[in-house]
Amino acid sequence: MSYFDNFMKANRAYVDLHGTAHLPLKPKTRVAIVTCMDSRLHVAPALGLALGDAHILRNAGGRVTDDVIRSLVISEQQLGTSEIVVLHHTDCGAQTFTNEEFAQQLKRDLAVDVKDRDFLPFEDVEDSVREDMAILKNSPLIPDDIVISGAVYDVDTGRIKVVKES
Ligand SMILES: [Zn+2]
Repeated sequence: MSYFDNFMKANRAYVDLHGTAHLPLKPKTRVAIVTCMDSRLHVAPALGLALGDAHILRNAGGRVTDDVIRSLVISEQQLGTSEIVVLHHTDCGAQTFTNEEFAQQLKRDLAVDVKDRDFLPFEDVEDSVREDMAILKNSPLIPDDIVISGAVYDVDTGRIKVVKES
Protein backbone atom coordinates (compact mmCIF):
# COMPACT_ATOMS: atom_id res chain seq x y z
CA MET A 1 0.00 0.00 0.00
CA SER A 2 1.29 3.45 -0.88
CA TYR A 3 0.68 6.60 1.10
CA PHE A 4 -1.58 7.71 -1.74
CA ASP A 5 -4.40 5.59 -0.31
CA ASN A 6 -4.33 7.82 2.78
CA PHE A 7 -4.69 10.85 0.53
CA MET A 8 -7.79 9.40 -1.12
CA LYS A 9 -9.33 8.79 2.28
CA ALA A 10 -8.50 12.29 3.48
CA ASN A 11 -9.92 13.77 0.30
CA ARG A 12 -13.31 12.22 0.90
CA ALA A 13 -13.52 14.19 4.14
CA TYR A 14 -12.20 17.32 2.43
CA VAL A 15 -14.94 17.26 -0.19
CA ASP A 16 -17.54 17.66 2.57
CA LEU A 17 -15.59 20.59 4.00
CA HIS A 18 -15.10 22.17 0.56
CA GLY A 19 -18.71 22.15 -0.62
CA THR A 20 -19.46 23.25 -4.17
CA ALA A 21 -18.25 26.71 -5.11
CA HIS A 22 -16.81 27.94 -8.39
CA LEU A 23 -14.22 30.61 -7.62
CA PRO A 24 -12.84 32.89 -10.36
CA LEU A 25 -9.80 31.56 -12.26
CA LYS A 26 -7.88 34.80 -11.68
CA PRO A 27 -6.31 34.99 -8.18
CA LYS A 28 -8.09 37.50 -5.95
CA THR A 29 -4.96 39.12 -4.47
CA ARG A 30 -3.26 39.30 -7.91
CA VAL A 31 -0.11 37.91 -6.27
CA ALA A 32 2.18 35.06 -7.35
CA ILE A 33 4.44 33.55 -4.70
CA VAL A 34 7.68 31.75 -5.59
CA THR A 35 8.71 29.47 -2.76
CA CYS A 36 10.38 26.22 -1.70
CA MET A 37 8.87 22.73 -1.66
CA ASP A 38 9.83 22.39 2.02
CA SER A 39 7.20 20.41 3.96
CA ARG A 40 7.49 22.70 6.99
CA LEU A 41 6.23 25.72 5.09
CA HIS A 42 2.46 25.82 4.67
CA VAL A 43 2.20 28.92 2.55
CA ALA A 44 -1.56 29.55 2.77
CA PRO A 45 -1.93 29.69 6.58
CA ALA A 46 1.44 31.44 6.98
CA LEU A 47 0.30 34.30 4.71
CA GLY A 48 -3.43 34.28 5.45
CA LEU A 49 -4.38 32.99 2.00
CA ALA A 50 -7.68 31.30 1.20
CA LEU A 51 -8.72 29.28 -1.86
CA GLY A 52 -8.55 31.40 -4.98
CA ASP A 53 -6.31 34.06 -3.46
CA ALA A 54 -2.85 33.57 -5.02
CA HIS A 55 -0.65 31.54 -7.34
CA ILE A 56 1.95 29.52 -5.45
CA LEU A 57 4.93 28.26 -7.46
CA ARG A 58 7.12 25.77 -5.61
CA ASN A 59 10.39 24.03 -6.35
CA ALA A 60 13.54 23.02 -4.47
CA GLY A 61 14.82 26.22 -2.87
CA GLY A 62 12.08 28.43 -4.29
CA ARG A 63 14.51 29.42 -7.03
CA VAL A 64 13.59 31.54 -10.07
CA THR A 65 14.25 29.09 -12.91
CA ASP A 66 13.20 29.25 -16.56
CA ASP A 67 10.12 27.22 -15.73
CA VAL A 68 9.19 29.57 -12.87
CA ILE A 69 9.50 32.47 -15.33
CA ARG A 70 7.26 30.53 -17.74
CA SER A 71 4.62 30.18 -15.02
CA LEU A 72 4.95 33.83 -13.95
CA VAL A 73 4.44 35.07 -17.51
CA ILE A 74 1.23 33.02 -17.73
CA SER A 75 0.24 34.17 -14.22
CA GLU A 76 0.69 37.83 -15.18
CA GLN A 77 -0.23 38.01 -18.84
CA GLN A 78 -3.09 35.49 -18.86
CA LEU A 79 -4.36 35.44 -15.30
CA GLY A 80 -3.97 39.01 -14.13
CA THR A 81 -1.34 38.91 -11.37
CA SER A 82 0.76 42.05 -10.89
CA GLU A 83 2.89 41.26 -7.85
CA ILE A 84 5.53 38.60 -7.08
CA VAL A 85 6.82 37.47 -3.68
CA VAL A 86 10.06 35.46 -3.50
CA LEU A 87 9.82 33.49 -0.24
CA HIS A 88 12.79 31.36 0.82
CA HIS A 89 13.25 29.84 4.28
CA THR A 90 15.76 28.96 7.00
CA ASP A 91 17.31 25.46 7.17
CA CYS A 92 16.69 24.85 3.44
CA GLY A 93 17.70 21.59 1.78
CA ALA A 94 19.32 23.69 -0.97
CA GLN A 95 21.90 24.77 1.65
CA THR A 96 23.03 21.20 2.35
CA PHE A 97 25.10 20.46 -0.77
CA THR A 98 27.21 21.95 -3.53
CA ASN A 99 26.81 21.18 -7.22
CA GLU A 100 30.16 19.38 -7.17
CA GLU A 101 29.28 17.15 -4.22
CA PHE A 102 25.86 16.37 -5.61
CA ALA A 103 27.30 15.50 -9.02
CA GLN A 104 29.66 13.03 -7.34
CA GLN A 105 26.79 11.50 -5.37
CA LEU A 106 24.63 11.05 -8.48
CA LYS A 107 27.50 9.54 -10.39
CA ARG A 108 28.08 7.07 -7.56
CA ASP A 109 24.43 6.22 -6.80
CA LEU A 110 22.72 6.56 -10.20
CA ALA A 111 25.68 6.21 -12.56
CA VAL A 112 24.61 9.46 -14.23
CA ASP A 113 26.98 12.26 -15.16
CA VAL A 114 25.37 15.64 -14.36
CA LYS A 115 28.60 17.63 -14.31
CA ASP A 116 27.24 20.77 -15.97
CA ARG A 117 23.88 20.81 -14.26
CA ASP A 118 23.16 23.58 -11.73
CA PHE A 119 20.87 22.36 -8.94
CA LEU A 120 20.81 25.94 -7.61
CA PRO A 121 22.13 25.36 -4.09
CA PHE A 122 22.94 28.40 -1.94
CA GLU A 123 24.75 29.29 1.27
CA ASP A 124 23.10 32.48 2.55
CA VAL A 125 19.30 32.50 2.39
CA GLU A 126 18.96 36.29 2.17
CA ASP A 127 21.47 36.35 -0.68
CA SER A 128 19.47 33.70 -2.54
CA VAL A 129 16.30 35.81 -2.20
CA ARG A 130 18.14 38.90 -3.52
CA GLU A 131 19.63 36.89 -6.37
CA ASP A 132 16.20 35.63 -7.46
CA MET A 133 14.63 39.11 -7.11
CA ALA A 134 17.40 40.42 -9.39
CA ILE A 135 16.72 37.70 -11.98
CA LEU A 136 13.05 38.77 -12.02
CA LYS A 137 13.96 42.48 -12.25
CA ASN A 138 16.28 41.79 -15.18
CA SER A 139 13.94 39.51 -17.10
CA PRO A 140 12.41 41.14 -20.19
CA LEU A 141 9.37 38.90 -19.60
CA ILE A 142 8.68 40.53 -16.21
CA PRO A 143 7.59 44.16 -16.85
CA ASP A 144 8.90 46.98 -14.64
CA ASP A 145 5.47 47.71 -13.14
CA ILE A 146 5.28 44.25 -11.52
CA VAL A 147 5.84 44.72 -7.77
CA ILE A 148 8.55 42.36 -6.47
CA SER A 149 9.07 41.60 -2.77
CA GLY A 150 11.39 39.17 -1.00
CA ALA A 151 11.28 37.46 2.38
CA VAL A 152 12.63 34.61 4.48
CA TYR A 153 10.35 32.28 6.46
CA ASP A 154 11.73 30.91 9.74
CA VAL A 155 10.74 27.22 9.90
CA ASP A 156 11.17 27.19 13.70
CA THR A 157 8.89 30.14 14.51
CA GLY A 158 6.74 30.65 11.42
CA ARG A 159 7.85 34.30 11.33
CA ILE A 160 8.58 35.99 7.98
CA LYS A 161 11.35 38.57 7.66
CA VAL A 162 11.47 41.05 4.78
CA VAL A 163 14.56 41.00 2.54
CA LYS A 164 15.40 44.27 0.83
CA GLU A 165 16.82 44.05 -2.65
CA SER A 166 20.51 44.86 -2.95
ZN1 LIG B 1 13.84 24.75 1.07
